[in-house]
Amino acid sequence: MSDDDMDNHPEAHDHAVVLGAGVAGLLAARVLAERFGRVTLVERDELPQESPAFRPGLPQSRHAHVLWSRGVELIEDLLPGVTERLLAGGAFLLDSPGDFLWLSPADWFHQVPGAKVLLASRELLDWTVRREVLRDERIRLRSGSPATGLVGAPDGRSVTGVEFREGDPLAARFVVDATGRTSKAPAWLAALGHAAPQVTRYDSRLGYSSRYFEVPEDPARRWRGMYVQGRPDVPRGAVLVPQDGGRWLVTLIGNGEHAPPTDDDGFLGFTRSLRSPALYDAIRDATPLSSATGFRSTANEWRHYERMDRWPAGFVVLGDAACRFNPVYGHGMTVAALAADVLRKEIRDLAPRDVPAAARRIQRRTVAAAEVAWQIATSEDLRYAETEGPPADRATRILQRYMSRVMVGANTDPAVSSRFFGVLSLSTSPNTLLSPGTVVRVLSKWRLPATPTPTAYPPHHDPPQVRTPQA
Ligand SMILES: Cc1cc2nc3c(=O)[nH]c(=O)nc-3n(C[C@H](O)[C@H](O)[C@H](O)COP(=O)(O)OP(=O)(O)OC[C@H]3O[C@@H](n4cnc5c(N)ncnc54)[C@H](O)[C@@H]3O)c2cc1C
Repeated sequence: MSDDDMDNHPEAHDHAVVLGAGVAGLLAARVLAERFGRVTLVERDELPQESPAFRPGLPQSRHAHVLWSRGVELIEDLLPGVTERLLAGGAFLLDSPGDFLWLSPADWFHQVPGAKVLLASRELLDWTVRREVLRDERIRLRSGSPATGLVGAPDGRSVTGVEFREGDPLAARFVVDATGRTSKAPAWLAALGHAAPQVTRYDSRLGYSSRYFEVPEDPARRWRGMYVQGRPDVPRGAVLVPQDGGRWLVTLIGNGEHAPPTDDDGFLGFTRSLRSPALYDAIRDATPLSSATGFRSTANEWRHYERMDRWPAGFVVLGDAACRFNPVYGHGMTVAALAADVLRKEIRDLAPRDVPAAARRIQRRTVAAAEVAWQIATSEDLRYAETEGPPADRATRILQRYMSRVMVGANTDPAVSSRFFGVLSLSTSPNTLLSPGTVVRVLSKWRLPATPTPTAYPPHHDPPQVRTPQA
């Protein structure tokens, strides 16, 4: 916004607008409030006030969400005390794989320390984070208010506000689009005379189906969560995780024609077709608390705003709106937290009037936070024949082969397991898997098959007792 334009809207000098109150938008608002006197958080949905509740703008909230340790740390850093509040609300902070029965694409992980993972319903997570963010008086929520476009200088050189379906536009010095996977930023930018961004897309045609259960207590149970992963020859998996409210959530996962059903019989039947019967055993006597819900829009999609020749001052796209992943690796929220951390560093030493001019650099650097998660998701998805997208290049094929060996190492050697989970939780660089010490450990298992036929149950888990028929 030029200072001439600003003179027409003096209140906009010190004002930033964030579109979308998902995790990416909430954290961006928190960070911007450190620099701007006022931040307006614009959300299409009416947001639940009294307690966590489903809302249409977050349809993915019906499916298992894990927040990896790096995400937990970064959100705690931005909102001190939030982890305690989540735990008080019924969330779980578990060790992965230590607290899990986890069948990897190779074999079972041992129950050894790895990385922390926070488990909670997405409704509780968002509600708790939102309450903490809105404690800041500089942040004002404008809910039930869908944004419909950007206000910009006629030459498209800057974004100076936001338009709404109803009511006057809102003037601002800085606008963040965090409206998630349905973001209209390409059309909004086109209306200001900008070209469409290049898009890279990989779609492994993964489907989800999820249902809540009450699982009977079992004092002998030695696990607190379960994950039976699929692999290309059996592309069916499922996760069972504890949730707030004494509930358990089962999310079924399958690619292409193996996409899981949502009817009652089909749901349970799918759990019988997994690579281990352990998850079926766990829920066969459980009481369903909801019907099953499906989700199919799971492609990896990167809109390369960072590559555009021209970019308007005062505008940035964050979170799923810029880059989204196949959710099965559980990285979206942690990447949103990483991007908020980058945004914080980028604007730390800038006066509000200087932030718009930094937009292009901020766009480039925040999206770079998605790089590792993108590599993990796309290189794994490219193992599946049905994956649509650019073919794997040589580097990806070498990475896939090495990662298959890492998986075998991680299933047999606690030191490799710990490093693997460090990377998977986005806490440590993938280079740790290439350190000489790790490579030696990984290659020492070269005689073991990469895709063994695993035992039905891991050594640390007893099969269920055979049930005696009722007299
Ligand atoms: C099935 C599934 C499972 C997932 N599991 C995991 C997981 O285990 N771990 C993990 O870290 N991530 C997971 N993710 C990804 C995660 O949900 C997202 O990465 C995360 O929500 C951050 O997204 P966001 O804030 O960018 O967008 P969203 O969370 O989608 O939020 C976008 C917000 O913008 C609002 N909005 C949309 N349009 C407008 C508009 N025009 N004006 C105003 N507001 C608007 C929406 O109502 C919504 O509130 C999963 C995703 C899916 C689909």
